Amino acid sequence: MSKPQSLLITPKQFAERMLKFYDLHGRKDLPWQQNPTAYRVWVSEVMLQQTQVKTVIPYYEKFMASFPNVASLAAAATDDVLHHWQGLGYYSRARNLHKCAQQVVNDFAGEFPDNLEEMESLPGIGRSTAGAILSLAMGKPTPILDGNVKRVLARVFLVEGWYGQSAVAKHLWSLTEKYTPSSRTGQFNQAMMDLGASLCSRTKPHCQACPLSSHCLAFQQDKTAEYPHKKPKKIIPTKQAKLRLKINEKHQIQLEKRPPAGIWGGLWSLPEVEFDTKNVRLVDEFEHTFTHYKLQAQVVSVNSKTQLADNIHLEWHNISQLNKLAFPTPIKKFLFRYFQLNQPNKP
Ligand code: SF4
Repeated sequence: MSKPQSLLITPKQFAERMLKFYDLHGRKDLPWQQNPTAYRVWVSEVMLQQTQVKTVIPYYEKFMASFPNVASLAAAATDDVLHHWQGLGYYSRARNLHKCAQQVVNDFAGEFPDNLEEMESLPGIGRSTAGAILSLAMGKPTPILDGNVKRVLARVFLVEGWYGQSAVAKHLWSLTEKYTPSSRTGQFNQAMMDLGASLCSRTKPHCQACPLSSHCLAFQQDKTAEYPHKKPKKIIPTKQAKLRLKINEKHQIQLEKRPPAGIWGGLWSLPEVEFDTKNVRLVDEFEHTFTHYKLQAQVVSVNSKTQLADNIHLEWHNISQLNKLAFPTPIKKFLFRYFQLNQPNKP
């Protein structure tokens, strides 16, 4: 469906509206906005990749008190850096932060590079983080595309598709490049991040107060709930299986030890019988979804033993001792439900 041209906003209008929004409502008192050096902006950006502003502030202040500049961070012990990250999660980001500080000291004489190419070559710094550091700390006209900006752009321009797909990401980058002004870029970027974090929230955006609402296609067409498009659900195949349940008079169950290689390697399972085996009695059924397929299993009792594959390793086990054996998750779930056993290892 073609988009109504009259609504399309020009880059000039877009920038004017966002900069006015920044002047009136933009956040200006965040700790990393005071004395915004590349180092201070960079640490804030990495912390904000995983956590909201409110949560980040105390961590940020403590981090800056311990490591006030890139040299002090580069010289710190890794454990000390990780300790300061405790509570923020994603320790790989803290490790990259430490590695990056060392690289800035060793390869760039302790000064962050002032161009996109070299900035992006540093560990843990992608194009958007590089754009944020360059624009917010150095006044360079570099666009950004963090999660908040993606959401705003996807709605304003009704961008089709999930932004994990490279064609969609490319489209969004071309939009942010087109609409980011070359002057006051840092303030524009800050305004975009602020808009995404406040009014243009994931659910129930506050469009009436938004400076872009008269040009926002999602708002105008009442489609804000549909954009940005979500990650498409994978369609996975269904595998059907018949599993044999055999119990003896000693209250033991016969289990198969799976061969070490292949699916469920080395684990105990119910032996599988040919799906078209006749003369079976349905005992129970269960379903389990794996990453790549969905298992629909029928648990059956079979009179004859001829339906099992050759060379499988079968053993009798006391039902009361099943919690000592290792099972694939769906088999364990079924057995423990069927025999009403407690799962001692469950958290
Ligand atoms: S009008 Fe609504 S959906 Fe569109 S950018 Fe503004 S807050 Fe987001």
